[in-house]
Formats: sequence, structure tokens, C-alpha cells
Amino acid sequence: MTDCDKVLKNLYKLLEGDGSLPICRVLQEHLDACESCARFYKEIKEVVELCRNFPEEPISEEHHNKLKEFLRKELHK
Ligand SMILES: [Zn+2]
Repeated sequence: MTDCDKVLKNLYKLLEGDGSLPICRVLQEHLDACESCARFYKEIKEVVELCRNFPEEPISEEHHNKLKEFLRKELHK
């Protein structure tokens, strides 16, 4: 498994905003150094932020799970 695989598998931890996890610092450092992971993270982040920008439709548990499911599929292509 490459660093990139490891990072992408754990990206949702950054997206969930729990920056206190030690792994988030590792992930962020990789994103700073790796253009392809940074691009992927940016795309996913935009989707998540779009969801958050509609407070009348807060990101539900269901959507959250769909997003995770989507990420999982993306990572196993
Ligand atoms: Zn990478």
C-alpha cells in the first residue's frame, strides 16, 4: 500500500473536521506535498462544504453515509 492509498482511505477524517486526531496532521502534511491527493481532497471538500452551506438541509446521517460510501468506491477503482 502506498502513502497515497493510506492518505485517501483516511481523508474522511479530515473532512469530518476532527483536527485533533494525530492522523490529521500526517494527512495534512501529505496533502501539502502530494498534488494528486490534494486535488482529490479539494474536490471532496467542495462537495461537503456545499452541503454545509444549506443549513435548511443539514447533512443528514444518510447523506454522510452516502458520502463515505462514495469515497470508499472511489478509492477502490
Ligand atoms: Zn498522495
